[in-house]
Amino acid sequence: MNHAGTPGPERIVVVGFGPVAARLVEHLEPLVARGVAAVTVIGEEPHAAYNRVLVADVAVGRTRESAIRLADAAALAVRGIDVRLGARVARVDRPFRRVLLDDGRSVDYDRLVLATGSRPVLPPLAGVDGASLPPGVGFLRDLTDARLLAEAMTAERRIVVLGGGILGIEAALAAAEEGARVTLVHTGRAPMERFLGDGAQVLGAALARTGITVVGGSSTGLTLDDDGRFSGLVLAGGTCVEGGALVIACGVRPRTELADGCDLNTAAGILVDHDLRALDTQDVWAIGDCAEIRCWDAACVACSGVTAPRGLIAPGWQRADRRGRPSPPSWRRVRPPSPLPIRLIAAARSCSSRPGGGAPPPPVRRMRTPGPWNPGSPWPSGPIPGTDVTRR
Ligand SMILES: Cc1cc2nc3c(=O)[nH]c(=O)nc-3n(C[C@H](O)[C@H](O)[C@H](O)COP(=O)(O)OP(=O)(O)OC[C@H]3O[C@@H](n4cnc5c(N)ncnc54)[C@H](O)[C@@H]3O)c2cc1C
Repeated sequence: MNHAGTPGPERIVVVGFGPVAARLVEHLEPLVARGVAAVTVIGEEPHAAYNRVLVADVAVGRTRESAIRLADAAALAVRGIDVRLGARVARVDRPFRRVLLDDGRSVDYDRLVLATGSRPVLPPLAGVDGASLPPGVGFLRDLTDARLLAEAMTAERRIVVLGGGILGIEAALAAAEEGARVTLVHTGRAPMERFLGDGAQVLGAALARTGITVVGGSSTGLTLDDDGRFSGLVLAGGTCVEGGALVIACGVRPRTELADGCDLNTAAGILVDHDLRALDTQDVWAIGDCAEIRCWDAACVACSGVTAPRGLIAPGWQRADRRGRPSPPSWRRVRPPSPLPIRLIAAARSCSSRPGGGAPPPPVRRMRTPGPWNPGSPWPSGPIPGTDVTRR
């Protein structure tokens, strides 16, 4: 019986089809097979879930898009999952338990899971807004962004990477290792200074020895060529870092707009309890990059005191496991990555020790070994207490 009071499977709607949603849907499949649940997954990207961690590798041509796929929409459809790609949920109508898509259609739910992830931060750049970036400017978040960088690589344009954090360094290293001319622009004295302290100088020097031009400064705006295409990044003080493509890697922010729009509690992310249920709700969950956990049990090992969204894939996958069932063997091969800065420094050092650019350095690769496994309890595990949903 679903919550519309009619016989039938419970209708579970998952919004967002990133890596964490894919993992959750995989866990829900047996419930669909048993006729207990009817699952709809709605993703605004035109592709089924893929491993976002490897987007830079796609961009620089180290791997193909098809190799990073995590889900197959057609196969899921055969197994009874309703997959909607290229479909954006514009609004959640909680009193009517319904999500409204931007094309005017709607989908009713008994249980709603928000897996909306995060979006890249656009720093203040004069004349630039997130709605329309000039040609040659992009982030490194999805496969569309990967194509921008790939195009710049092919055209042998100088690539400017804005952001000296992990993502920026990874993008710069990957592009440089594949032969591009790269300038990395960071704030502070050296890339990752806040994280590494004095060690950041070592990293900066190692990056410079790989051939990456490392520039400190605060970006203020862009210069464009006669066609309106990116041609340079302007720094405070007036210096212009010239290039043919700009990759902005200035961090990410949880996507909470749907939650905000339907009066869910949010802080940095969508506030959920230990079980990932949105605070003060009976029928809404959030998982992955968009969720911020408020676990009331200080001794809880699973939450281990870390509650704010961290923009890391492993906690999201572990929580999808906790909500779901034991994974099939394919998932067990994937483990959370080891600390990136350590591998980045090692990679930078190994590049720098290459005599005359001889043997290529070991590629900076991520997450390819088994990870912790926590079977958790099957989900959904029982009727939702109370079906009378009211706003907070
Ligand atoms: C280049 C890169 C490298 C990374 N490297 C690492 C790493 O080494 N280690 C690590 O742990 N993490 C890394 N990450 C972070 C990791 O990819 C994220 O933590 C992970 O993708 C989070 O998964 P998610 O499913 O929660 O969200 P996302 O991957 O952000 O997916 C959310 C999906 O929901 C969709 N969506 C959002 N709102 C709506 C809506 N209203 N309607 C429909 N669809 C919607 C989005 O379009 C998106 O497809 C990296 C990320 C990037 C971009």
